[in-house]
Amino acid sequence: MAGLWYTEKQTENFGITMKIKKTHHVEQTDFQLLEIVETEEWGNMLFLDGMVMTSERDEFVYHEMVAHVPLFTHPDPKKVLVVGGGDGGVIREVLKHPGVEQAVLVDIDGKVIEYSKEYLPSIAGGLDDPRVDVQVGDGFMHIAESENEYDVILVDSTEPVGPAVNLFTKGFYAGISKALKEDGLFVAQSDNPWFKADLIRQVQKDVREIFPVTRLYTANIPTYPSGLWCFTLGSKKYDPLEVEADRFHEIDTKYYTDELHKAAFVLPKFVKDLAEGEGE
Ligand code: SAM
Repeated sequence: MAGLWYTEKQTENFGITMKIKKTHHVEQTDFQLLEIVETEEWGNMLFLDGMVMTSERDEFVYHEMVAHVPLFTHPDPKKVLVVGGGDGGVIREVLKHPGVEQAVLVDIDGKVIEYSKEYLPSIAGGLDDPRVDVQVGDGFMHIAESENEYDVILVDSTEPVGPAVNLFTKGFYAGISKALKEDGLFVAQSDNPWFKADLIRQVQKDVREIFPVTRLYTANIPTYPSGLWCFTLGSKKYDPLEVEADRFHEIDTKYYTDELHKAAFVLPKFVKDLAEGEGE
């Protein structure tokens, strides 16, 4: 294959490869290898430690589904926390909810924020909004130090490696419960059922032991491993499947809809089994 190609190895034996037009920035930060390249197919893309984080062309799927399912489930979210999310995409979607008064973002790596603003402006543009409080720090520590503070918490972290290892533990989910208000809820990206079945089974089990309402939903993200991406929702009170039609206000989206809000929870059998702790 002529030209320069970037390959993400999704397992030892399988990967995704894409043709590169230009390399914008490569830097080993204090936490991870940060690469931003321009691709022929997907526009500018951010990679961390060799893993696709986001692309200009398909980012809207993930960012809309992380943000709007919980933000339409909660009747009146005012204070929102994003753990990770340094590319700014989830924050951009959170700001589409006029009732949100403050959105706090805590990402451990300031370089992700800096270079996302420079090379991914269509994704990172909301980070300078007056409602947004951007903090560079460990999301695990922020959660440990928070109590009864947030209506919604969104965990938009890298995979459970390196700095994000602690963000997939039962202790972290217990901390999230403490950091949430009495009727709060959270969503965490929980990877894919083809290569991370054990992770999904464990996360769902841990969250189910802490939150009375625990659900799993999916979205199709072509540049993520397997293309079938999962999101775990844990809620102290509100159920995403019991949201009344009048709750959905007009919102500018390209993937999320009020019908998809519920349909996303209809799972293929092998994923449903995972969510319920059965399967392999
Ligand atoms: N959408 C991507 C995904 O699903 O893999 C995540 C994108 S976002 C860029 C991931 C962010 O998590 C990175 O900016 C990384 O610095 C941040 N992160 C990793 N571990 C963290 C931690 N312990 N506290 C806060 N942020 C963390």
